[in-house]
Amino acid sequence: MSATVLVINSGSSSIKYQLVDPDAGTALASGLVERIGEDAGHIEHKAGSTKTERHDRVADHGDGLRQVLALFEEVGPALSEAGIVAVGHRVVQGGKEFAGPALVTDDVVATIERLAPLAPLHNPANLTGIRVGRELLPDVPHVVVFDTAFFQTLPDAAATYALDREVAEKYSVRRYGAHGTSHQYVSAKAAEVLGRDSLKQIVLHLGNGASASAVVGGKAVDTSMGLTPLEGLVMGTRTGDIDPAVVFHLKRNAGMSVDEIDDLFNKRSGLKGLTGENDLREVHRLIAEGDTGARVGLDVYTYRLRKYIGSYAAVMGGLDVLSFTAGVGENDDIVRAEAVAGLEFLGVEIDPERNAGRKKEPTVISPDGAKVTVMVIPTNEELAIARQAMSLI
Ligand code: AMP
Repeated sequence: MSATVLVINSGSSSIKYQLVDPDAGTALASGLVERIGEDAGHIEHKAGSTKTERHDRVADHGDGLRQVLALFEEVGPALSEAGIVAVGHRVVQGGKEFAGPALVTDDVVATIERLAPLAPLHNPANLTGIRVGRELLPDVPHVVVFDTAFFQTLPDAAATYALDREVAEKYSVRRYGAHGTSHQYVSAKAAEVLGRDSLKQIVLHLGNGASASAVVGGKAVDTSMGLTPLEGLVMGTRTGDIDPAVVFHLKRNAGMSVDEIDDLFNKRSGLKGLTGENDLREVHRLIAEGDTGARVGLDVYTYRLRKYIGSYAAVMGGLDVLSFTAGVGENDDIVRAEAVAGLEFLGVEIDPERNAGRKKEPTVISPDGAKVTVMVIPTNEELAIARQAMSLI
């Protein structure tokens, strides 16, 4: 029996999980608990080709995880026989404290708690998952893997805001990045597929959240997310880069509170704010129907991508590999084509036939002999978390 890792990604009202065989690189089971604390909850558990759904109330995260563990025993694979050697937890914000995965101890929990003001939407929810996980699975080591860790190598010039130094230091205001586990996994995969180490790479993680990174020889040198995951690319519902004076303007002239502006920027902007839809499939449907606002929305989205590709090529003094990943990056050939349109001068071009369609495997989409290798690389954050957990125990 090979060793497995249970990977837990705990959100404010949901828990995603996967039972991973890190050696084989496969998932033995996966699932999702949603609507925790609401009248009717929802649990979806997939094992092989069998999908089981439950619609009972899920009182809290502990109740959710307890129901999931019961499902494992009931429909399989039985955890008691699955050879679990560790539980891996995703944590969004590790601040300057964590440059890699860490074994969960009471001290580590306290540090993640202390960092919560930097990720108020995420760290408390991640901690709840860790707490109930340790309670229900006390006999195996628990490991935390941070979204920020891969970006601890950012040079000061990239990580520092041009803000009064005392204020920045006192309130830990700097660029931490996010989605690091995915950027690390995808850039390492590209190097593995191409059989080359010393590469200058750009990774575009385009999901509902979206971020870009510049990676030289396996080390991150810049990334688009900052203090929080709000900075950078246009996202499903987030603004990405915006003049901070928009906050002052709305506060002074629209009478909006900071919380209302936070909600506006994080949940009602991006593609959703521009087109009414945060899902690219819906945006394309609107464009096909002749919706000019949706067309402008997609243009804003891909224009921002081109700006980042150009600036990261400049930061690295060149570019060898450009990779697309996550829900949009893996599935949307129109976005991929429009994101690189006009970048031939950098050596970036794609072959329309190779680019066509959704990609489930690492795929080169640039023509043979192109200066820059453009790829689609499906991300696998759960596998990356499982492997990092294994590396620690
Ligand atoms: P993620 O956050 O990585 O799960 O990505 C979710 C997003 O991927 C959705 O909001 C869609 O915008 C996008 N997406 C998923 N499937 C497709 C598809 N077939 N074509 C275009 N976009 C897709």
